[in-house]
Amino acid sequence: MRLDSPSGIPRPEALRGSPSLVHPILTVGSVAFDSIKTPFGEASRVVGGAATYFSVAASFFTDVRLVGVVGDDFTGEQMEVFTDRPIDLAGLQRVPGETFRWKGEYSSDFSARETIYTHLNVFDQFRPVLPESYRQTPFVFLANINPTLQSEVLDQVDRPQFVAADTMNYWIEGTPEDLRAVLRRVDALVINDEEARQLSGEANLVKAARAIQQMGPPLLVIKRGEYGVLMTRDSGFFAVPALPLEAVSDPTGAGDTFAGGFMGYLASAGEVTDAVITRAIIAGSALASFAVEGFGLDRLVQLTPELLRVRFAEFKRLTHFDAL
Ligand code: AMP
Repeated sequence: MRLDSPSGIPRPEALRGSPSLVHPILTVGSVAFDSIKTPFGEASRVVGGAATYFSVAASFFTDVRLVGVVGDDFTGEQMEVFTDRPIDLAGLQRVPGETFRWKGEYSSDFSARETIYTHLNVFDQFRPVLPESYRQTPFVFLANINPTLQSEVLDQVDRPQFVAADTMNYWIEGTPEDLRAVLRRVDALVINDEEARQLSGEANLVKAARAIQQMGPPLLVIKRGEYGVLMTRDSGFFAVPALPLEAVSDPTGAGDTFAGGFMGYLASAGEVTDAVITRAIIAGSALASFAVEGFGLDRLVQLTPELLRVRFAEFKRLTHFDAL
């Protein structure tokens, strides 16, 4: 199946495959109320969460099946970020209590982010039960959430073709054994540079990548914020810069958006080869470049496939050179 034009740029009408060829993605992760403070503004109690950013991004390429939980404070209006997109919410439980809440504050140059609080709320008691219609999903993304929940989801999927996971310092420090158990079961880990160093105990990123590969995942995608992405696999490295942007408003969710574009593209291609992985990394980077331009999900929910296509082409120009 070819979904891209000969130049490697996805055509807008081809961002999604034909319905019969679509390989859906299942994701589990946080659906949240975020409060965010950046040098350019503040937002309080806006819809966020790792699985939310992931699902919106991946839905540009394929059908998404969301597993998660919200409280009864999550209204129909807030649910609108998911509507009119191919995002199946049969696996999103709504239970009495408060939705997961997180607050982050960025330094003046965005180089550091402080977590002010993380309230798991309804996630504390959450046990994922996959609807029957989710069990045969070929692509699975375990977004950042308690690794025990990631494992429980994986237990309920019938022989998936490709599984990737994300995690963060909260779980690397808090539940290291549970995280190791997940790592042994995944094909890829998508993680940021600081977390890669923390997980491996190696300061050098290449050494960190090798050490993490020893823990299980043959494919490692390290997100490096404004420095782009480094991918390592036994067949070699691939690295791409982030698009230089004049106006960055809010980096929240950039990593999850990247993962959504990356996995969405892989699923739409239906196979995981070096060439497909490379284009998937560009798809993720292009989507993430939009995410950071707006506050929270604002820019992402306004995005059209046409604009995404143009940015994909900008990445091609940015990274292309003629050999000597
Ligand atoms: P990122 O900027 O890619 O690290 O993702 C930020 C998103 O992750 C926010 O929307 C938060 O709601 C969510 N988040 C933050 N901490 C956690 C956590 N411990 N578990 C799950 N999701 C989290």
